[in-house]
Amino acid sequence: GARIALLTRDLRIHDNPLLSGDGEIVPLFVLDPRLAGLSANRQRFLHQCLADLRNTLRERGGDLVIREGDPVAETVRLAREVDATEVWVAGDVTDYAQRRERRLREARLDLTVTPGVTVLPAGAVRPGGGGDSYRVFTPYWKAWEKTRWRVPAATPRKIAMPDSIAAGTLPELPAGDSPDAIPGGETEARRRLRSWMREISRYDDEHDDLAADNTSRLSAYLRFGCLSPLELALAAKADDSPGAQAYLRQLAWRDFYYQVTAAFPKISTEAMRPKADTGWRYDEDAFQHWQDGLTGVPVVDAGMRQLRAEGWMHNRARLITAAFLTKHLGIDWRLGLQWFFRWLIDGDVPNNSGNWQWTAGTGNDTRPYRKFNPIRQAQRFDPQGDYVRRYVPELKGVDGVAVHQPWRLPGLDYPGPLESHRDEAVWLRA
Ligand code: FAD
Repeated sequence: GARIALLTRDLRIHDNPLLSGDGEIVPLFVLDPRLAGLSANRQRFLHQCLADLRNTLRERGGDLVIREGDPVAETVRLAREVDATEVWVAGDVTDYAQRRERRLREARLDLTVTPGVTVLPAGAVRPGGGGDSYRVFTPYWKAWEKTRWRVPAATPRKIAMPDSIAAGTLPELPAGDSPDAIPGGETEARRRLRSWMREISRYDDEHDDLAADNTSRLSAYLRFGCLSPLELALAAKADDSPGAQAYLRQLAWRDFYYQVTAAFPKISTEAMRPKADTGWRYDEDAFQHWQDGLTGVPVVDAGMRQLRAEGWMHNRARLITAAFLTKHLGIDWRLGLQWFFRWLIDGDVPNNSGNWQWTAGTGNDTRPYRKFNPIRQAQRFDPQGDYVRRYVPELKGVDGVAVHQPWRLPGLDYPGPLESHRDEAVWLRA
């Protein structure tokens, strides 16, 4: 009988283990009503991915079957309809994914769980001396780099699908929230991958430069599996420039947080170090200023506005804005995490939560009390002020690095550092 390939966040044909191998395949995506809980930006991106994948599969003689409802119930129903004997799904680490996998097993389907959402599956490397996961990145990175990765799956040239399956229609493309969001889909992802591989050697020098904006911007494609992390890692490994090596290390961070999440599934709501999870303030007004990009600290404001405009933020700006919220305003990291999650196209549980906990000092940082002085960060990583001027039009007329401290400039109508918190903002002038 045929095999159902239950696609989840592996929306590509290239080296997708679910689509490799012989025999008839029924590629299925189930629109879970729970996906309505995805942010508007991610919903739009997801639909673009699905439309693109459907085209690609059709070009290869197959199709993407779309169903709506509970993924497990719909898979069982389709399996009966087409007399499928097997179901394949990618292994994943979140609570949601684990529950889905458990329920698929309970449904007595012949289930195969394939690797694919990370380079190394969670648990593939374990710390010496016991323990189910690495808590600290550097030893993880060392083990990760040394481990032999799996061989990429073959990309199917033809998809053999049983006849007479109603493919189902794809709902209309939902509107996103961010006007400058990148479009989803494997075709677009591969185009960007090709141009990124020409830039990658500059990554070590420039990845922290806010204005140069020379990072891959492939995170959302990884999030939805339009590209496989294994393919990126192999490409980076084959290129021995320092840029490619630095890039490889970032990909290992992504795997790192997946294996942390597998061991600590409550990562988005519970602190990994409960002792550090105290004393948060709940200051609506300050939080609102932060969300709106009106804190009065230009580099923070630029980051927060980039987030809304593009559904993406530069990593350095994510660090600065997250540290500003948690370490300076003292506001609960969970609130910041939710706000990021509402906007980020690449937003996912392991990376968003892992990085928020790292920044808040409740997670895996080996120096949990580190502070980021946003002004110094700005001077260092946006030395000409171009990043700020790009996202904060009120400051367009201010030349050079002076743009980072508008309160020093006479006659400028820019809010002071969190006006309602002036007294707490003395450090800003340090
Ligand atoms: P590049 O610089 O090109 O990096 C290459 C890839 O490595 C990225 O695509 C990403 O998959 C991975 N990567 C890079 N940095 C990290 C990191 N610190 N942790 C984990 N993986 C990393 N990344 C997400 O994918 N989803 C999130 O929800 C997310 N939330 C974040 C929240 C905060 C507070 C912070 C500080 C960082 C967060 N990151 C998140 C990590 C990082 O900022 C983004 O992965 C990166 O900015 C994406 O842009 P890029 O593809 O150009 O990255």
